Amino acid sequence: MRNFLLFSLLLTSSLLSAQQYDVVLEGGRVMDPETGLDAVRNVGIREGKTAKISETPLAGRRVVNAAGLVVAPGFIDLHQHAQGLASQRVKAFDGVTTALEMEIGAADVAQFLKEKDGHSIIHYGTTASYLSARSLAFGTPLPAGAILPKSGPATDEHATPEQIAQMEKRLRSEIDAGALGVGMGIEYAPGSTRLEVIDIFRLAAEQKMPVYTHMRSAGRVEPGSAIQSTEEVIGAAAISGAPLHIVHINSTCLKDSLECLSMVQGARARGLDVTTEAYPYIAGMTAINSAIFNSGWREKLGIDYGDLVLPDTGEHLTKARFDELHNSTNQQFVLIFANTQEIIDALIPNPLIMIASDGLEGHPRNAGCFSRVLAQYVREKKTLTLMEALRKMTLMPAQMLERSTPAARRKGRLQEGADADLVVFDPQTISDRATFQKPMEPSVGVHYLLVGGMVLIDDGKMVDSVFPGRAIVGTGKAGQ
Ligand SMILES: [Zn+2]
Repeated sequence: MRNFLLFSLLLTSSLLSAQQYDVVLEGGRVMDPETGLDAVRNVGIREGKTAKISETPLAGRRVVNAAGLVVAPGFIDLHQHAQGLASQRVKAFDGVTTALEMEIGAADVAQFLKEKDGHSIIHYGTTASYLSARSLAFGTPLPAGAILPKSGPATDEHATPEQIAQMEKRLRSEIDAGALGVGMGIEYAPGSTRLEVIDIFRLAAEQKMPVYTHMRSAGRVEPGSAIQSTEEVIGAAAISGAPLHIVHINSTCLKDSLECLSMVQGARARGLDVTTEAYPYIAGMTAINSAIFNSGWREKLGIDYGDLVLPDTGEHLTKARFDELHNSTNQQFVLIFANTQEIIDALIPNPLIMIASDGLEGHPRNAGCFSRVLAQYVREKKTLTLMEALRKMTLMPAQMLERSTPAARRKGRLQEGADADLVVFDPQTISDRATFQKPMEPSVGVHYLLVGGMVLIDDGKMVDSVFPGRAIVGTGKAGQ
């Protein structure tokens, strides 16, 4: 009898603890773009996972009242350059739980992963950098901390077959170190021949990895138009079999953005694995001493010196000031006003477009990209439904990442068994606050943010001294 009592007590307490969650998000509007769930539910989180989604109340050590708020998968930003804590902080207030350096790639994957291990508030990861590999093959490694080379022989000259072989060797070892693909900023290395580009795509295909690319050229001047650049990478994807992601189609294709998008659509209709992204701002931003500003840029982009603006001071450049900064070894970033609001407004709602920020300090896209889409296109212009906007920020980038790692199948979803990377926001108030004058102003409207089940933003405030961000690494990394 005593034994039976003890047994039932143990059974009852273990059942109780089985129903106890670490955190419960109670009564929010739960939205999941993959299953289409859009209903008031309770979400139970345990050991970093979304363990239960239920209509009935759940018991938790911490219960958060989410009534009136949207509970969605945390946003995945495939295109984030600034990886320091100040930028991660503003990303978190913008609803982002994963921010990856995919366009260009960290100069050294192992070092990047080591530096961020234990020091990251949101998840991180990187591609293998073609530009770093090319700089090494030319004997001029990138300066510490830089991801873009200064314009010079390593960017402007053709590579020999031996140098291409060296780049391939380097990229293979970077993929072995955990890279999520090959980042290929072709415009930053105008000396790369068409064959070199195809060779790098072939290397990616051999490694079963996608290529993320900033294409060869922008604008309408032929040869070298955005249309031709789009043909080049779609061709290389077709020839090699490597999946292709074209970054910031808005800032490369400019006035021809919709035409470039129809090329992507055509390639997909013919069975090619081609995807793309955009950010909701009319200005771009990059390093002024890079090869993007080699002679001919004004004709190519259809802009002049005065359309280049220094982010810190708002100074519009003149020819003399441009020459000084372009020739400097000091890497100054510059805003490039080359696009129109009409183009951006036509691009963002298109179903092929993922939202990705191209985040860099000095440009408001770093802090405001995702909230801006929710405020301007869902709430104000009403050209996107909330579910469709969330799909562009969560499921689509997660599915893109699945080409590099099976771990991505647990990302970008609000489903039982998925990683508890979750954003809880007010759809009536979520807004970007960052401007070209104040680019690091955090967005408003995110009440809670959970990263790997840990509460990072709590009732609108950042929790200090927690570092729930983890590396997302490719299948090349041993043990993955
Ligand atoms: Zn770019």
